[in-house]
Amino acid sequence: MSAAIPAWLIVAGPSTPVAIGLATVMAAAAWSKGSLRPSGAIAATVVGSIALRAGATWGGFLIVWFAWVTVGSRLGRARKAVRTAGVVAKGGQRDAIQVMANGGIFAVAATLTLLRCDLAAEAALWGTAALIAAGADTMATEIGTWIGGVPRSVRTGRPVPTGTSGAVSVAGSVSMVGSALVLTAVAVGFGLVPAPRWWIVAVAAVFGAVVDTVAGALVQQRRWCPSCDTATEQARHACGTNTQHRGGWRWLGNDAVNLLCTASAAFLAWGLASLMA
Ligand SMILES: [Zn+2]
Repeated sequence: MSAAIPAWLIVAGPSTPVAIGLATVMAAAAWSKGSLRPSGAIAATVVGSIALRAGATWGGFLIVWFAWVTVGSRLGRARKAVRTAGVVAKGGQRDAIQVMANGGIFAVAATLTLLRCDLAAEAALWGTAALIAAGADTMATEIGTWIGGVPRSVRTGRPVPTGTSGAVSVAGSVSMVGSALVLTAVAVGFGLVPAPRWWIVAVAAVFGAVVDTVAGALVQQRRWCPSCDTATEQARHACGTNTQHRGGWRWLGNDAVNLLCTASAAFLAWGLASLMA
């Protein structure tokens, strides 16, 4: 890996106070629109400030990424809320842990760029792959629960309630791959990823989202509501009953699986880039 500073790094981001100011305004807007909880807005301000400070390419890409997943979560919102009401652990409002599970690795990569010029090109590749994996996984869930019909569990092959982790539908899978490709094109457009290396980022992002689905099906904890006789991810079901552990690893919830998704994408992108170097 050459230590030369990539040309795109010359496109400097705003100064630190301006970066924090911009990130705060955007996070506050997302909070007031109901996309983030207060803790999620604070975490998003941190991630956004670091990205903007790292450069216009990082900040610009993060803003487009956020717009993309926000549109995805708003499509058919009422219908999705009804279809997944008794299943998903958390609603559409992201808290700090969810924001960090999705954007934490991207923020680490952006920080590394600020500290180590010689690692900047590599960090851009794996950091971007991680964020795109989170976006692809989010879109698979959002579009899948909206128009995807009854999903099937990867573990059993049987139909499961809409919103269940580790379940797939055709619409969700198409959205996952489509989102990975669109977001990769955006990253190339911003100059965050060199055009000849687009496939590394796209393949790694899809891999991360697949790992998310498989881990969600095989090892994520599964819970059961004895009153309603139904599967759920809620510790206390929508009906008010405390749910029972039914399988999977008790400590492995949806947030940890999302972190695994972004980490696997980053790891594969790093590995592929190292092999190709
Ligand atoms: Zn219940």
